Formats: sequence, structure tokens, C-alpha cells
Amino acid sequence: MALICGGGFWQDGPFMLRKIAIVIWVGALAAATVDDATRRLSREILEELIGINTTDSIGSTTAAANAMAKRLLDAGFPPVDVKVLGPNDRKGNMVARLHGSGAAGLKPILMIGHLDVVEARRADWTTDPFRLIEKDGYFYGRGTQDMKSSDVALVTAFIRLRGEGFRPNRDLIVALTADEEGGKSNGVDWLLKNHRELIDAAFVLNADSGGVTTANGKPVNVDVEACEKLYADFQLTVTNPGGHSSLPVPDNAIYHLADALSRLEHTQFPLELNAVTRTYFERRAPLEPAQTKADMNAILHNPPDADAVARLDKDPRYHYTLRTTCVATRLNAGHANNALPQTAQANVNCRILPGHSREEVRQRLIEIFADPKVEVRYDDNGALADRAPAAKGFDPVMPPPEVLRPLERVAAEMWPGVPVIPEMETGASDSVHTIAAGIPSYGINGLAIDQDDVRAHGKDERVRVGAFYDGVEFYYRYLKALASAR
Ligand SMILES: [Zn+2]
Repeated sequence: MALICGGGFWQDGPFMLRKIAIVIWVGALAAATVDDATRRLSREILEELIGINTTDSIGSTTAAANAMAKRLLDAGFPPVDVKVLGPNDRKGNMVARLHGSGAAGLKPILMIGHLDVVEARRADWTTDPFRLIEKDGYFYGRGTQDMKSSDVALVTAFIRLRGEGFRPNRDLIVALTADEEGGKSNGVDWLLKNHRELIDAAFVLNADSGGVTTANGKPVNVDVEACEKLYADFQLTVTNPGGHSSLPVPDNAIYHLADALSRLEHTQFPLELNAVTRTYFERRAPLEPAQTKADMNAILHNPPDADAVARLDKDPRYHYTLRTTCVATRLNAGHANNALPQTAQANVNCRILPGHSREEVRQRLIEIFADPKVEVRYDDNGALADRAPAAKGFDPVMPPPEVLRPLERVAAEMWPGVPVIPEMETGASDSVHTIAAGIPSYGINGLAIDQDDVRAHGKDERVRVGAFYDGVEFYYRYLKALASAR
């Protein structure tokens, strides 16, 4: 393993050689873990699911939910245990239940995955985003990373477990849902509000986060998501009477806005560590090159070493983990080339550390901009408000041993010597809904993505073929380990 993937030779070697090495490596990985029937089945389901457009603009999660329901029914699940339901024709969700023995009196475990994908334009992509293409050892297609591969892993695991007559020690529920990426019909939220009985559980495993981090295909660590940042958009607006552009005045809406954004660019939110991010740096440090390792250890001191913090801040992944971040993402100003602007607007997107509220951040932005001309409104999916919600982000919770131990066991089988590391998720996920409903939620899946090949939401989204099959195998083994009678 190390020979093929870790050494400099392969990085520097001729391209063909590297390509051959990758193909051999991928083949070896998959052959080691997945039987042929599972390979065929999971690939077929992936092909079907990628081929169903589930974007908010023109797609349908109902079509995808029906297709996955049919797979389960064909595999022998009784119709009463497989349901497709939702608020309208286009936003269906699928809920399936594998009955447990009930002997231990344990509440069910719920697995969630979203069926919808981010928009993808054929013109932007090298291949058709809504067709599964296998090329150079990768599967290409919208949703291969986020997150149809993991949906397939859940469905395939259910089919295999049922086929074997596996009786879990408690009910296992899979919910594949709509509108995680956007849209107005979030499936997890809708199910919680309308059919809580179908998905009520002791805890949630969200396959949308966690996963295996690899470098050039070599596993580095297995992530388990233990907390999330809070998502918030703020709309900045500067208005001005405007006028003829031949008679400029100093009071210009665009300059006010540009100055405010420039101040934001040069300001950082304070450094803050919590139980999860501390553990993350502790466990990550031994895997890093010497300087980064020293820096990660140095920021755990009290007070943290300033030089070490400055170096880690340069890496977006660590910067994100250390602080609340706010960044300008959209800009819109003026109405004519020959007129002074009457309006200048920007969107600032923030990712807020646990323990802080959106309103707190709005107040801080106002301080940073230091310009009463810049109005800062909270933008809740298009609905603007003068104040933001005061609710704080959920406290970080380390996954309990009943979740972590089986994970560590399966990870040790599949990726020997690779540590399981709790992390704070970089994006927001549907766990916000389940956590708010009082169900502890952890991001866990077995899909490996290279740390420099994250293409979720981007063009030419892809996963290594071997990583896909490992992800499929992972959920099967993990559910078995999690729900075997003890
Ligand atoms: Zn996702």
C-alpha cells in the first residue's frame, strides 16, 4: 500500500506509470473487500441514481425516492416498511425500515441521506453530469461525492442485510430525502414535522458527512462528524440619492460597501477551541509533517502559541476549525454606467462556531464595518430581517462508545492503522434538523475522498471506483457491527 501511494517515485514518475499504479491499487482495494454481486448491484443503483436529475430547478427527488423504494421492494422488503412521501409531487422522500428483534428494548437507529444534488450545467462539465461515467479509475457524475454514492451504500446495505436474513437488535431506518442543498421542502424537516413516528430514533447517522480522508488514494484518517457550525447569510445594503456620473461626490454607495468588505477581509474572528476541535487537533497532529504537527500541539497550550496559530490559519481547513468565518460571496451595485450608484449590496456568508448566535455575529459585523451607512440584515433564504435569531449553535457532543467502538472496529478492518478522528463539519447538513428535534446526530460514512480532490458542488465531481465500493462495504459492515445482539 505505502509503496504504491506514499512514495515520491510515483508522484514524480511518468504519468502512465502512475495511472497503471492507480488502477492496480483501486482494483486491489475493491477485490479485497466487496464481492462481485455487491459490486454489480451497487454500481447499477449508482448508475440509476446519477441518471435521475434531482436538482431543485428541474429535477425530482420523488423519481429517485421511487427508484430506491423499488430496489428495496424487489429485494423482498414488505410494502408496509417502504414508503415514499412528501409535501408535493417533486419533493418525495423515501423511508424504509428493517425490523429488529426488539429483544433489547432499544429505540431504532435512523440513517439519513439526501437525494437532491446541486445544479450542474452540461457546458461547465467535461462529461454529462447526469450520466455515470467510469474513466481513469473514477466514477464521474453529479452526486458521486455529495451524496448519491452514500445513498447507494445505505440502500445496498439494507438489501444485503435483508437478503442474509440479518436480524438487528433494534429497528434500522433509512430516510433518503429532498432539499438538503436548497429548495423549500427539506425532507428531514418535513418528516420530523409530519411523520415523526416513521423516523423517530435513539440517534441519527448522517451519511452526508464524516468519511475517509485520503491523500493520493492513501487513507489518512476516518472522520466522524461530531458538531457543525451554524450557517448564516447577511445582506449588506448601502443606499444613496445617486446622480449624474459626471458630477461625482465623495459619498458613494459602492465605495462605502467596498470599504466595509475590505475591513471584513482584514479582520478575524477570535480563536476558539471546543471538546471536538481539541480532540481533532490532538489526533490529527501525529499524521502531519513536523512543522504542522508542532503547530497543532502548540495551539493546544494555554495561551496558544501565536506563531503556530498564524501558520495554521493559512490553511483553509484549519482556519475554518479555529474560528467563526465570514466571507463576501455576492455583489450587486449601480443601475447605469453613467449614473452614481443609488444602491450597493453584498452577501456575506458566515459559518459560526458552536456557542454563538447569528445575532451576535451580525452585531460584530456592524462593529467591523464601522459605517452607519452600511445596513446589515439577516437573510434567511431570501426572507430579510433587521435582527438575526438569538439561538446559539448546538454544543459539540462527542459520539458515545456505542457509536464510536463499532466504527473504530470496522475502520481497523478496512483501513488498518488509520485513526478515527472527530471533526467539526465544514458545511451545514440535515443534522441541524434532527439535533433540533432532540435526536443526537453523527456524521458517518465510508466514502474516501482525497483531501485535495473535494469536488462536491463543483464541476466534474468524481470518486475513485475503489473508494465507492469500499463505501458500500463500509455501511454494510458498520450497521452489522452496530446492531448485532450483544
Ligand atoms: Zn450533501
